[in-house]
Amino acid sequence: MLKDYKGACHIHTKYSDGTIQIPDVITSAQDADLDFVILSDHNTFSPKHDGWEGWHGDLLVIVGMEVSPRRAGHFLALNTQPLAGNGNVDLRKYRHMTSKECLDDVTSNGGTAFIVHPLGKRKITFNINLEAWNDWEHNGFTGIEIWSYLHDWIHDLKLSNLWHFYKYPNRQIKGPDPKLLSLWDRLGQKRKVVGISGLDAHLRRIPFVRKPIFTYKELFKTIRTHVLIDGELSKSDEAIQSIYKAHKEGMCYISFDLLADATGFMFVANSGDRMYHMGDEVFNIENEIGFCIKSPHPATIKLLRNGKIHREIKGTFLETSSTEKGVYRVEAYIENRPWVFTNPIYVR
Ligand SMILES: [Zn+2]
Ligand SMILES: [Zn+2]
Repeated sequence: MLKDYKGACHIHTKYSDGTIQIPDVITSAQDADLDFVILSDHNTFSPKHDGWEGWHGDLLVIVGMEVSPRRAGHFLALNTQPLAGNGNVDLRKYRHMTSKECLDDVTSNGGTAFIVHPLGKRKITFNINLEAWNDWEHNGFTGIEIWSYLHDWIHDLKLSNLWHFYKYPNRQIKGPDPKLLSLWDRLGQKRKVVGISGLDAHLRRIPFVRKPIFTYKELFKTIRTHVLIDGELSKSDEAIQSIYKAHKEGMCYISFDLLADATGFMFVANSGDRMYHMGDEVFNIENEIGFCIKSPHPATIKLLRNGKIHREIKGTFLETSSTEKGVYRVEAYIENRPWVFTNPIYVR
């Protein structure tokens, strides 16, 4: 029996350029009713070294790292002991390496890498200048950050609309960048590429305004990655490996839970007498493959094949089939607002 656990990923703390300490991250995540958080301070595993990883009440804290070479794309590293550190948790030397060298270093011992803010971001007025990832032929990464709250919010930000964006941050959320989704669909036709969500939580302030744009607690209620775990998460360090496994295999989906908590959203396929889940690759279907989608809330549900709509309905249940190979994934919208983006089922 699969269980649905929701978590927030890509979170900075005072160990790098975040603005709050880990105990405050933990309290904020507990208040937002999260099951897990994945921390990702820049070029350091110090929070792990200092003993923060593990269970804190009902919240599982996992320490990842955002590898951020200077003037190159960034990625999230999970489940790794990078060689460059020689056992040291401070990996500032990554700033002097290329992103490819860093990626090879992180994955050389089985670690997984997720490219974050893959298309980069340039907003000189707001002192934001992030390079895009530029090595999509490299097979070393496991997945990409498909939807990031901060980068979605920043996308159309200008000085002229700053006040409006500050007052109503959640109204500005438009969903994953269509360019990124089509890149994801193209990559998926060659190999499995897992999509995850991120917050890039730092806690931003605007000059002369006391309240930050969004607090960590507010962010933790927005875009989450839901992972599907076979059975209950154990109350030991094994739980961390279960979360890693779901991320690596793509047994997960992304949702903007502020619109409605998507817990229980289901996307499965069946061929012959076998059932397949998000992230699964199905080889050599005999006649056709059946798809079943169930939503805990009424929504516009779209089943896409290689990025194009295969079936679309309004409601909570969609059952259909196909005889064609392709990358099948689901998008769901509530009143035209982006809500759920699942990982694909790959029919090869
Ligand atoms: Zn970054
Ligand atoms: Zn970041």
